[in-house]
Amino acid sequence: MNINTNYQNIADSYLFSTVAKKVSEFALANPDKKIIKLGIGDVTLPLCKAVVEALKKASDEMGVKETFRGYGPEQGYDFLKTKLQAYYKTHNVELELDEIFISDGAKSDLGNILDLFAVDNTVLVPDPVYPVYVDTNTMAGRKIVYIDANADNDFLPLPDESIKADIIYLCSPNNPTGAVYNKEQLKKWVDYANKNNAVILFDSAYECFITDENLPRSIFEIDGSKTCAIEFCSLSKTAGFTGTRCGYSVVPKGLGEGILNKIWLSRQKKKFNGVPYIIQRGAEAVFTPTGQKEIQENLSYYKENAKLISDVLKKHNIWHIGGKHSPYIWLKCPNNMSSWEFFDYLLENIQVVGTPGVGFGKNGDGYFRLTSFGSRENTLEAVQRLDNLL
Ligand code: PLP
Repeated sequence: MNINTNYQNIADSYLFSTVAKKVSEFALANPDKKIIKLGIGDVTLPLCKAVVEALKKASDEMGVKETFRGYGPEQGYDFLKTKLQAYYKTHNVELELDEIFISDGAKSDLGNILDLFAVDNTVLVPDPVYPVYVDTNTMAGRKIVYIDANADNDFLPLPDESIKADIIYLCSPNNPTGAVYNKEQLKKWVDYANKNNAVILFDSAYECFITDENLPRSIFEIDGSKTCAIEFCSLSKTAGFTGTRCGYSVVPKGLGEGILNKIWLSRQKKKFNGVPYIIQRGAEAVFTPTGQKEIQENLSYYKENAKLISDVLKKHNIWHIGGKHSPYIWLKCPNNMSSWEFFDYLLENIQVVGTPGVGFGKNGDGYFRLTSFGSRENTLEAVQRLDNLL
């Protein structure tokens, strides 16, 4: 037996383990100090009522012979796919039901989709970025090239004809920067991908945070995208499903003359037995009028937190982006501090914890990510402390 030695090339999750270690050491040495975590990428508000009711109802159905369900369709029940189809239609995207695949979340899909592509493809990843894109391709042994996201391009890199790549990752609204591509910018990527016979893997996990109607929530709002893109989305941040688990991918039949849709279905049928019926019923409730109203209340809460953070940074002239169409605020560390220097500065002086930007890629050094997923009380207290310190 020979193991897949590519696993040795995956960078240890140095970022979050180091953050956790520094925080716990500080807490041990300073038991009287209250630490506020604004580094979390997880939601804190509970599931909305409509979802909880649907989960309960579906659980009851599972306990009754007549309504009990066993194995379901691997690619998801039509009742949920129909709701997603209608949701996409609200932003003028027409999808066929068999272009939608329900899953247990975007992270799994982003990793699993790589089964469809040969190992000798070159992958293009923006730097900084959500680490999963790099790790999953490293495991497979694919060559990765990077494109710089930095202050010069507002952390929204555009295609560079001198870089040749077969698989392109785009994440908008972006984790960690909160930057959002507009339609003209995405059109450039779509044209580049079509011209170079490349595929865009578009991660729209934070699309629900977009409030400006002119900004695209889906790559499929862009002409020409159905021949070059796959989209990944999730209810994790949309509806607090991080622990409940439900997401979806969209693989258009126009891509690769239908072959990618066909082999993704085949891959899911062979390796996956679908998302639990109960969870899919909970997910369905997100897309009802009541569900939409209730999740908007939660999203507004996070957005208000983001505004509070953004306002204090503005007051102190600290360069930052994000927050408006994203739960993430990406700031330039003051006084040319490195990401880790700023991390230590905040922890030691005001016990506010964020995420060092360098953990998302070399271009993240000197930057820092704060999130709006905390409670209002903690966010207000953290903002007050920042106001006093900065
Ligand atoms: N994509 C991005 C950009 C994320 O930040 C996350 C989670 O933080 C995911 C995907 C994973 O989402 P899920 O919970 O659906 O696996």
